[in-house]
Amino acid sequence: MRREHIEKSAAEIAAQVRSGRVSAAEIVEETLAHVDLVDGALGSYLTVLADAARAAAVRVDERVRGGEQLPLAGVPLAVKDNMCLDGTRTTCGSKILERWIAPYTATAVARMLDAGAIAIGKANCDEFAMGSSCENSALGVTRNPYDPARVPGGSSGGSAAAVAAYEAAVGLGSDTGGSIREPGAFCNLVAFKPTYGRVSRYGLIAFASSLDQIGPLTRTVEDAALAYDAMAGYDPMDATSIDRPVEATASALREDLRGLRVGIVREFDTKALGPDLDRIYRQAYGDLERLGAEVVEVSLPTAEYGVATYYLIAPAECSSNLARFDGVRYGLRVEGNDVRAMYDKTRAAGFGPEVKRRILIGTYALSSGYYDAYYVRAQKARTLIARDFAVAFEQCDLIACPAASCPAFQFGAKSDPYSMYLMDYYTIPMSLAGLPALSVPCGWTTPADGNLPMPIGLQLCTPLFGERLLLGAAHAYERATNHAGARQPVLDGVRA
Ligand code: GLN
Repeated sequence: MRREHIEKSAAEIAAQVRSGRVSAAEIVEETLAHVDLVDGALGSYLTVLADAARAAAVRVDERVRGGEQLPLAGVPLAVKDNMCLDGTRTTCGSKILERWIAPYTATAVARMLDAGAIAIGKANCDEFAMGSSCENSALGVTRNPYDPARVPGGSSGGSAAAVAAYEAAVGLGSDTGGSIREPGAFCNLVAFKPTYGRVSRYGLIAFASSLDQIGPLTRTVEDAALAYDAMAGYDPMDATSIDRPVEATASALREDLRGLRVGIVREFDTKALGPDLDRIYRQAYGDLERLGAEVVEVSLPTAEYGVATYYLIAPAECSSNLARFDGVRYGLRVEGNDVRAMYDKTRAAGFGPEVKRRILIGTYALSSGYYDAYYVRAQKARTLIARDFAVAFEQCDLIACPAASCPAFQFGAKSDPYSMYLMDYYTIPMSLAGLPALSVPCGWTTPADGNLPMPIGLQLCTPLFGERLLLGAAHAYERATNHAGARQPVLDGVRA
């Protein structure tokens, strides 16, 4: 199979399209042919937008000929299926929205398309972005391109698998507690959650509005920077979007870490993750030091309450956000004898078990009598966690820690909800504090129950609005180590 262009980075593809050496139309044809070949087995996409992508390529080629310097010219894009794209099915991986057609385009998606990217398809995800493996999708299975017996992570697992398997060069994901960073770590990608409010949520179907944030999944740090620069910035359509100038990150990519202090979190003892991961993370921290950083120990004493805090706040917000799916305005309706019966039947048939569990937990935590005991206390814990970060950042510029506690696992391996919730142990604290954070590949390990090496992610995090430093530092680490380039996905062996 010819993969002449699509294995290149988004930056390289865009440069070639801008120079006229290759057309966006050719990139799209090569991508669609490749998707045809591999996606039956991988299942990254729920909807492939072949005709729309071809039409968009014609327009991008016209703009390029007209002299427009499009930063993402012809870059194939995977859009998580909880983001609206005008006229296309937007399912959130749920039966309740299985046939719902979005009437407008999310701001983040529109900005990517405006910069020249071409939407190839809508990518699978856990239902309403609730999950860490894509196994909660009601509409399909997505496999990890590095071992099809394993999950791609979640909830943005379809976007991650698509980018890892060259079905797109950039994937858009949403991260509420880890849903960009964890699948990115599982699929050997750079996976970046910006500061809360930096990228507009307009057109992102809400899960937990005080946490949700859109960001890119890419094969290089430079591509993450390009995508962020295209998407970030104030949007009057999102009341929580931040009206403050965005500094371009693509111009801030560093080659070393001289003059920076990197904090290692005392409470995140990597010995607990087993000898292999312990070795990988120690090596990573050592590499940061070799790149010129001063490594210091910092403490996040309340981070251990992150998961418990998140699993009150996120379900509380979801129980309110998902109340709109009642058979009246959006998606599925199951008729009943009266309107109450119609609501009940629609929601019973439309939502999967994890979504129902979250709605129940959230409704309980918000109910009078329990509100103070659960929801208010969780908000207090959230404040304490944010304060821990503020104190830690008095001693360092960046924090380095694991992105996940294990590599991609086999389907069905995390069968109880709690063990799945723990997948976000290292990513939730940053989400609660609203901080920018990313995962960058830092090594490989062969799990005991497998024979293929799986990627591991290093998480880096900065104070609010530290995107330039964050991406800059990640670039230096990526360039010095190149763990991502060490292996290729097993695309020739994929079987449905
Ligand atoms: N896995 C976490 C959850 O299930 C995070 C999901 C997310 O970030 N969207 O809620």
